[in-house]
Amino acid sequence: MRLLVVGSVAFDAVRTPRGSVERMVGGSATYFSVAASYFTQVRVVGVVGDDFEDEHHQVFLERGICTEGLERVPGKTFFWSGEYSADLNDRRTLATELNVFASFQPKLPLHYRRTPYLFLGNIDPELQSLVQRQMEAPQLVAGDTMNFWIEGKRDKLEETLRNIGVLIINDSEARLLSGEHNLIKAARAIRAMGPQMLVIKRGDNGATLFREGEIFSVPALPLEDVFDPTGAGDSFAGGFMGYLASHSIEGNGPDPGVLRRAVIYGSVMGSFAVEHFGLERLRRLSRPQIETRYKEFQILTRFD
Ligand code: AMP
Repeated sequence: MRLLVVGSVAFDAVRTPRGSVERMVGGSATYFSVAASYFTQVRVVGVVGDDFEDEHHQVFLERGICTEGLERVPGKTFFWSGEYSADLNDRRTLATELNVFASFQPKLPLHYRRTPYLFLGNIDPELQSLVQRQMEAPQLVAGDTMNFWIEGKRDKLEETLRNIGVLIINDSEARLLSGEHNLIKAARAIRAMGPQMLVIKRGDNGATLFREGEIFSVPALPLEDVFDPTGAGDSFAGGFMGYLASHSIEGNGPDPGVLRRAVIYGSVMGSFAVEHFGLERLRRLSRPQIETRYKEFQILTRFD
């Protein structure tokens, strides 16, 4: 197994201009691991309540994701609910009920500790650190966070950031974290906090990778029908890390070409995620469909 993710496994309720769903399986670790599972073998660490039934587990099992690290404890599963604006660019959180997450203390099974690639999904930075400390010399650690933690647990988040190689966040989070509006300045400030690499996701404006001496930008695939943007960011991260984890790292970090292709595969998985509610589209893909969309990105961005 190549890639370990810790993050939320949730029930979500979402309302978008295309409709609404009252209860569906979601969570940062769920979107991430399903997207990454098309590229590599994935282990998930998280917690669910006793309302998380076998049919919900299927989301992981049907994709061959290892759930040994997914604890099931008495109580209710994390619940999140959100509503999107008419242009889908703004999202309002209606409810965040931590439930079983409130007392979660991740404890990695012994054989998980040597997984070479680690993704710290969007959860309390204290829990992210707890997982970091249990790992034995991972080759690459990536992470995500959100406004909720940047505002609420800044000190703890800065501690986590010191040991992250790639931070993957959206533009508003990058601005909030750095205090800089300009994204080049924001990226410089964030990289000074620890991460050597930073990926800033900009919704339907695409994504940009920043690292020493390099900026690489890709547009989002123009889509005619967007149903539900929930999980697009985590699916991006899953495609990005899943692709990286299917390659070995030699020397000083990932190969530059592999890194750029990882940004494209991230964008591909993000584009699939939004085409249906929840995980509906993402969980029923095939590798040829993914490659076809990768080629659409090549055609879209070729100019020479
Ligand atoms: P994304 O749209 O990629 O930002 O991710 C959406 C997912 O994040 C949803 O499935 C939620 O269950 C999950 N989520 C929302 N808020 C939080 C939070 N505070 N902590 C952990 N997960 C969250």
